[in-house]
Amino acid sequence: MDNHHPVTREVLHLFHAHGGSRYGGENVSQLEHALQAAYFAERDGAPSTLIAAALLHDVGHLLHDLPADAPDQGIDDRHETLGARWLASRFGPAVCEPVNLHVIAKRYLCAIDPAYFGLLSAPSIQSLALQGGPMNAEESRQFEQHPFHQEAVRLRRWDDAAKVEKLATPYVEHFAGHLDAAAAEGHGA
Ligand code: FE
Repeated sequence: MDNHHPVTREVLHLFHAHGGSRYGGENVSQLEHALQAAYFAERDGAPSTLIAAALLHDVGHLLHDLPADAPDQGIDDRHETLGARWLASRFGPAVCEPVNLHVIAKRYLCAIDPAYFGLLSAPSIQSLALQGGPMNAEESRQFEQHPFHQEAVRLRRWDDAAKVEKLATPYVEHFAGHLDAAAAEGHGA
C-alpha cells in the first residue's frame, strides 16, 4: 500500500473505514455500489480515469460518515458538493467532469434513449421530475458540447446498473493501479 500515490492511499483508507458495511444489510451498500460501478467500468475497458470516476462518483456519501474529514470540506454541504470538492482537489477533469455531469446525464438519456426510461427505478423517476424531467432538444444539444459528455453517459449507465444484491466484485485494492494512474494526471484546482 505504501508504494501507491498519496491520493490512492487516501481512497483506500476511506473505503477501509467503511469496510464493515460491505456485507451488511439486505440492500446494496454505498460501498458495494461504488465497487460494482468500478467493476463494470473496468469490464467495459474504460480508461483508468473513468474507472476512478466510477469508483468515486458518490464519494460524498463516504465522506459524510467521516466527521474527521468533514470540517475541512464544510460539514453543511450536500454530499454532491462535498464529493465534487473532494475530487477537484485530487484529480483532473477526466475524473471530475464525468462525476459532475452524471446526474444530469440521466435527463439526457431520458431524452435520447426511449428504452432508458424503462430501466429507471421508482425513486429515480421521482427524482427525475424534481431535476427537471427529460432534457429538451436545446438542452441535449448543449450537453453534447461538453468534452466529457460521453464519459458521463457511460458512468451513468454503470451507476444505474450497480445495484445488484450480493454481486461479487473485486475489493478496492484491485483498483489501486487505476487510482494511481488517474491521480498521476494531477488536479486542476
Ligand atoms: Fe451512484
